[in-house]
Amino acid sequence: MTTPVIQLDGVGKSYRPGPVRALADVSLDVREGEILTLLGPSGCGKTTTLRLIAGFEVPDRGRIAIGGRDVAGVGRWVPPEKRGVGMVFQDYALFPHLTVGENVTFGLDGMGKADRAVRAREILGSLDLAACYNRYPHELSGGQQQRVSLARALAPEPVVVLMDEPFSNLDAHLRNQIRDEVVSILRQAGVTCVLVSHDQRDALAISDRVAVMNRGRVEQVGTPRAIYRHPESVFVATFVGRTNLLRGVVQGEHGCVLTDFGSFCRVDRLGFASGSDVMVAVRPDGFEPCGESEGVLRGRVLSTTYAGARVEAEVAIPSDHGGDRHLVVHLPPSRHYEAGQELSFRLVPEFASVVRNACTTLDFSLPPAAGPATVP
Ligand code: ATP
Repeated sequence: MTTPVIQLDGVGKSYRPGPVRALADVSLDVREGEILTLLGPSGCGKTTTLRLIAGFEVPDRGRIAIGGRDVAGVGRWVPPEKRGVGMVFQDYALFPHLTVGENVTFGLDGMGKADRAVRAREILGSLDLAACYNRYPHELSGGQQQRVSLARALAPEPVVVLMDEPFSNLDAHLRNQIRDEVVSILRQAGVTCVLVSHDQRDALAISDRVAVMNRGRVEQVGTPRAIYRHPESVFVATFVGRTNLLRGVVQGEHGCVLTDFGSFCRVDRLGFASGSDVMVAVRPDGFEPCGESEGVLRGRVLSTTYAGARVEAEVAIPSDHGGDRHLVVHLPPSRHYEAGQELSFRLVPEFASVVRNACTTLDFSLPPAAGPATVP
């Protein structure tokens, strides 16, 4: 296996006075040419991680390596300008009194004046900004400023590009288009990129892998599909997408879990021993309506929201222990559903994942970050 382009090994960081612990013990590898997104709620340590990689902060402990070379650690410190890192800031941080061309040439220290201009024109041309060379930042749209900022970061041909919330300043209708453009530019440049986002849609759409952070730690690293389909903790299950959480006990060695709603088999167990207390995280897409005789779950529709490609329904299911439990279920839009209607449906095991029991991982004092989670 090739050496990762970025390596964080047991990195910790506290800010003083306070102290405020921003990062507890972060270990993370970023592979060559990949786009890795740090995703998590406000204050979980995303920007601190990025700033530590860039060299704007010094870690209290641990080691950081870029391109196989230690840049921070015991007795080791390489300043930001010598790390081969390009940075794109949330507000683009373009110099307002410099033209686009001057903004891009600014960081090309090691070159002669003529070569700097050639390189700036080359990179601006490849980003479809050639016509903007002599304009000032205030004469550009938000999307153009974003690309100039990226051009400035890419011009010195860095080993890695770091981007802090690069899409948060863009209008909603432009956002997806610019996001796709930026990803295609990064792919063409073949550059390794670490991106910070608190927006799960961005993270799932553009990343090769996502590192989900919570309270200064990385909870899970994986492909967008793995993070969505197979969350490993209650936090990841509830922060990324909407999830129903069912308490359960693992039964035997065949991937079956007994819950209040009955026994579900073939769910992903992540190696839990028989008898373990667990949570089954089921995405709203993890249920399908079926005939009454085949249905494992029967319930009553409480409310529905039409969302074009699906109907989002809240369904009350009578529990074995009395009372109702509520589930959020996505139903096919081809049929009509009404509040009060009885519904039979079954669970699609591929959309269910067994996660560590909440007690060990979830701090209930935190407000839920995304969508409702049903904890029976
Ligand atoms: P956001 O999404 O809101 O930008 P984040 O996940 O990027 O949040 P960080 O900015 O890394 O989080 O902050 C992590 C923790 O460190 C927070 O508790 C924050 O208040 C604290 N922190 C960050 N920068 C400083 C600083 N310069 N001085 C003191 N505390 C800081």
